[in-house]
Amino acid sequence: MKPAPRSGRSVRTRIAPSPTGFLHLGTARTALYSWAYARHHGGQFVLRIEDTDVARSSDESVQQILDAMHWLGLDYDEGPYFQMQRLARYHEVVEQMIAAGTAYRCWCTPEELDAMREAQRARGEKTRYDGRWRPAPGKVLPPAPAGVQPVVRFANPGDGVVTWDDLVKGTISIANEEIDDLIILRPPPEGAPPGTLGVPTYNFAVVVDDWDMGITHVFRGDEHINNTPWQINIFAALKAPLPEFGHCPIILGEDGLKLSKRRGAVSVTAYQEMGYLPEAMLNYLARLGWSHGDDELFTREQMVQWFDGSHLAKSPAQWDPAKLAWVNAQYLKKAGDERLAALVQQQLATRGVVAGDLALLARAAALFKDRCSTVVELADWIEMLFVGVRPREEDLAAHVTPAVVPALRVLRDRLAEVEWSAAAIGAALKAVLAEHQLKMPQLAVPLRVLVTARTQTPSIDAVLALFPREEVLSRLRSV
Ligand code: GLU
Repeated sequence: MKPAPRSGRSVRTRIAPSPTGFLHLGTARTALYSWAYARHHGGQFVLRIEDTDVARSSDESVQQILDAMHWLGLDYDEGPYFQMQRLARYHEVVEQMIAAGTAYRCWCTPEELDAMREAQRARGEKTRYDGRWRPAPGKVLPPAPAGVQPVVRFANPGDGVVTWDDLVKGTISIANEEIDDLIILRPPPEGAPPGTLGVPTYNFAVVVDDWDMGITHVFRGDEHINNTPWQINIFAALKAPLPEFGHCPIILGEDGLKLSKRRGAVSVTAYQEMGYLPEAMLNYLARLGWSHGDDELFTREQMVQWFDGSHLAKSPAQWDPAKLAWVNAQYLKKAGDERLAALVQQQLATRGVVAGDLALLARAAALFKDRCSTVVELADWIEMLFVGVRPREEDLAAHVTPAVVPALRVLRDRLAEVEWSAAAIGAALKAVLAEHQLKMPQLAVPLRVLVTARTQTPSIDAVLALFPREEVLSRLRSV
């Protein structure tokens, strides 16, 4: 069922990564869903950088996120907005909430909070803020202690249940009793220059932003489900229109545990470096938690056409490197040779191999791409055109045998003279085979070993034609 955009507002989605590292695959997937949903509805997609964790955020990481978004082709209509540039706005909203009684200052010291939790634990209770600074009719608050900088807390409703129809998980309800008055604004650090503004916490900044930015649909990881009741309550306190929420399950690694850095690559950038194509990544990420019938391969345009927020999986998907490699191989086959030439050139450059002839690279890509899963594998093949190879001793012993050496020598001499094309090389090869009563593999395999240091290649005449004649003759000189 297509979830109808609520109240006729035009669809606006966003992705809100924290710049504390590379763009994580899970975030890339929710970015893709948010982007596709906005595009499907002719709406807008916003990029917001949630950089309030000042100690862990970096400009380098912002750049990596922007680069990864660009590489994936997830174009945004607005942003990037930066939360740290919006501090004045959060303070303005906090003041309005304090005035309205939906937020209040709390002067508890860390020591007091520790003692509070200790006492709750001793009584076998769940630890939570006990509301000691929360104003209430008739309640007399202690005088504000000197020398303590207060935090601001949200006055969460004390009772009732928060319920929402999650676009992914269905109806979710959490009782207000379960959640306490969370901190929405922290004071500036001690010793900060006068006038420094305190930094809001995630659950508050995210609401102000989603409100100000007119966000209608929020797709994010399900680690945020426990945050959503607070956010819904804050939306209500602000009388702001509530977006719809869709919480996507985490991505599991091959071992069934949460995909994590310790157990392999988790960033979009790492897959770019490993030679995956962006359209393959998008296709694979899309399928990891969403389906359109049995379709495994689809274009961005098809995804946009099909992605209406339905058919999102409720349970975690497992990262499957073999399937990703298969998807990438399909896209490599389809990719234009000129494009692959440029990618191989870059890949070779990272190895210190200068390959200037793009036309040659394109011819080579056309020949080898069907055998490869990644651009890195393609470059592994093509590198031999620019760098000498070292055939394995056992391959030489097995294939360059006394029985074929005379024929190889004759062929080498003919190759010195034929027109340098795959057809002419093939004709010379066939003639020598006939003269020496050999079968194709008896000459083709030793040629492969000597020239490419591999025992299997595409058609050897086409492979040889990629090299300069002199290079082939030189690699055959040892026989
Ligand atoms: N900065 C949060 C994160 O990266 C955003 C969560 C959200 O989309 O609300 O997890």
